[in-house]
Amino acid sequence: MIIDTHCHYNLEPLSENVVKHWKKAQESGVEASIVIGTDLENSKLAIEIASNNQGLYASIGLHPGNCQEDIKKLLIGDTYSQVNIDKSIDNHLNLFEVLLNQQLSNHNLKLLAVGEIGLDYYRLKTKGLKRQLVVEMQKRMFQFQLNLAFKNNLLAIIHVRDQNDRHLQNAYQDTINILEDTIQSLNVSPRFILHCASGSLDYIKKGLKLGAYIGVAGNVTYDNAENIRAIIDHTPSNRILLETDAPYLVPKGYKTQICEPYMIKTTAEFLQQKMKINLDIIRQNANNFLFNK
Ligand SMILES: [Zn+2]
Repeated sequence: MIIDTHCHYNLEPLSENVVKHWKKAQESGVEASIVIGTDLENSKLAIEIASNNQGLYASIGLHPGNCQEDIKKLLIGDTYSQVNIDKSIDNHLNLFEVLLNQQLSNHNLKLLAVGEIGLDYYRLKTKGLKRQLVVEMQKRMFQFQLNLAFKNNLLAIIHVRDQNDRHLQNAYQDTINILEDTIQSLNVSPRFILHCASGSLDYIKKGLKLGAYIGVAGNVTYDNAENIRAIIDHTPSNRILLETDAPYLVPKGYKTQICEPYMIKTTAEFLQQKMKINLDIIRQNANNFLFNK
């Protein structure tokens, strides 16, 4: 049996027929899955989907790209100022905190995590935004949400991406710094997943030392994914988790661009056959990590 720790049933086209996709995934051996939010609206949808379907759980969060469109509008219009940008981010974060607190006070047991949150500097240059401005915005959003996750003993599901993944720098180094600061200031045992792992081995080692679990998605099957396979080789098997990130990252061999949740069985088989990973251990990791706090 498989636990899919990262799946967007709340995004199109999966959201159009959640029941069909979830049933198909179950027929392929998936027993549980976390539905991951990337903005406020689809986080609410993740909560709704989880409460309507046995075996589905929710994660809510603002993805690092989330406020970028708002900021872009402010930059293009005459209303650009640091004050306005701060106000816009505050607004997003306040709404997020309200949603989270609502769920916590309702004792929503289906809410397992905050995410996906993190840092993504990969496409900053093509957005026509001032790089430093967006970097600071993303860091603030990440720090705020990470703090809420750890304070409330929720999992944090972390997305990190940058242009240069060979060295420990940029988004990767900033992530480690923010994790270290937050863990230290709260004095907690953090529970977090570096989802769809990328980056240097040095970065992964630092993450593991801080307690990271490593999420492995369908892109591990790609011919040019040596970097991801090296990350797995350097990760103890009791820290590996499986995910689809559907509708993204379709595993090798499917003649479609849309990843469907049932395709996780291909990623699982790849790990077992090509990388000699024991799938029972992966399943046990997810069970312990997700459900036994
Ligand atoms: Zn995702």
